[in-house]
Parts: sequence; C-alpha cells; structure tokens
Amino acid sequence: MKVFDIIKIGSNLLKSKKIPSYVLDSELLLSKTLDKSREEILTNLDQKVDEKKFFLFKQYLSRRSKHEPLAYILEEKEFWSKKFEVNKNTLIPRPETELLVNELLEKYKSKKIEILDVGTGSGCILIILLCFSKFSTGIGVDISKNAISIAKKNAFRHNLHNRVRFLNKSFESIFGKKFDLIVSNPPYIERKDIKNLSEDIKYFEPRKALDGGNDGLDLIKKVIYKSKEILKINGTLALEIGNGQFKKVSKILTDNKFRIKRAIKDYKNNIRCVIANNN
Ligand code: GLN
Repeated sequence: MKVFDIIKIGSNLLKSKKIPSYVLDSELLLSKTLDKSREEILTNLDQKVDEKKFFLFKQYLSRRSKHEPLAYILEEKEFWSKKFEVNKNTLIPRPETELLVNELLEKYKSKKIEILDVGTGSGCILIILLCFSKFSTGIGVDISKNAISIAKKNAFRHNLHNRVRFLNKSFESIFGKKFDLIVSNPPYIERKDIKNLSEDIKYFEPRKALDGGNDGLDLIKKVIYKSKEILKINGTLALEIGNGQFKKVSKILTDNKFRIKRAIKDYKNNIRCVIANNN
C-alpha cells in the first residue's frame, strides 16, 4: 500500500473516533512507524509501505483511536523547542508552562542560581531553565520513581547530567539545603472536576500529577509552606496554578509573608502563573 492510502485510512478512522486533529495525527503516527520526518513522508506520498510496517501503524492507530495522547504513542513531546521523552508516568508538557519558563529565563539567564523543581515529571521545566541558565544547577524531585527515570533520561539527552540531580522523593523531605528559586507545576485540578477533563487527559495522564485535592490547592499550599523553610533570603517561588485560583493562591502567599512579583496570563487572559519573593 502507498503512504497516501495509509494516511487516508488512518485519518478516516481517527475522524470516526472524534479525534480532532485526525489528519495530522495519522501523518505523525505513520512518520513514527517509518522512522521518517513528516515532511519526508508528505513529499513521497507514492512510496510503498510493507505489511510489517502497516501492521505496526495499525497498532499505533488503535491506541490513538482509544484517545491515548499522541505524545505517549510517539514517546516524546516538544517543550520550548526541545524534545522530551514522555510516557504514561509523566504529565505531557503544556504550552502554559512555557510561559512560566519564559518569565524565569528573562530573570535568570545570566545568573548562577540553585533551583529546585517540585514534581518535576519529565523534568522539562528544570532542564530548559538549566539549558539556558548555563551557570546554574538544579535538583528535581518527584514522588513517582518512573517519572524520575524519564527525567534522568531527558537530562542526558540535553547534556545536563553534570548540573542536575533528579531524586525520587517528596519535596517535604528536603532538609538542610536552600535554593534561590523553587519552581513547581503542581497538581492543581479540583478532584470533582477531573471527570470533566477530556478523555485523553483523564484516562491516560497520571492522576497524581493532576489531582490537587478537594479545592485543588492541597499541593500548592504544601509547596508554599515548605518553600518558606528552604528558600534563601530574597529567593523566588514560581508556581503554575489553575484557572481561577489566583485570588486564593495570592492570599496564601501573602499570609505566608511572600510578596507577589508577577502574575502571568495565558493566551485566554487567565492568570496561570505566579512569581513571589520571600522578603
Ligand atoms: N513539571 C512537569 C511539567 O510541568 C510535571 C508537572 C506535574 O506532574 N504536575 O510538565
């Protein structure tokens, strides 16, 4: 069968399963199957694909048609123009998290700081910060052992293994060390809202990376309390937060003697990241 026909079969099936980006997804799954770039495939639509490859493609297709996120099937996701390995044990990096990274890089690019990334997942936040803040060092922690092993692979992939440590432990068990910057994209979805998330998210992404407890603020509060203890004087806490949580989060921050420096809005004009100092 030809590439053209296979893409068509794939996109028709995905369309019938209500996958919004059905053509693109079919193309990308075929490009993974053939281990060629999408561009290469699209410029060789007449190329023949053998039975074995077609079989593999159908396996990918069946996973996607059950709404498994494309990133998990492709085993990677681009974040800040770099590729990160991801799997079902790590949250898929999101564009709103890039907003946080953008803000922090402006401030810290040429500085030498020690960073802690709480709930590091794939390690994407810390790795990008260290890629561009070349004198800095960092520790990423996560309670998921499987996530930490992916983060370590990503550190190697981006040549950072000398400046970063990924540890399988809770941030609450960090003692005797202080940081200039603590960054976190904690789980912040209200438990009762999880059922309303899209199938791709609620059935596939790790529940413990999403679930922020009854008010969505369980982890945010804990990170704020702990940061008081392990931030250096004049240190910075940078948090990604959920839609509509800014008011509550800023109150918790100011009650805990943090000063809010920046509130970053997403493309829909919602405040999604807060940067605060402990002075
Ligand atoms: N730090 C990772 C990210 O931003 C994982 C966050 C999480 O698991 N809540 O993608």
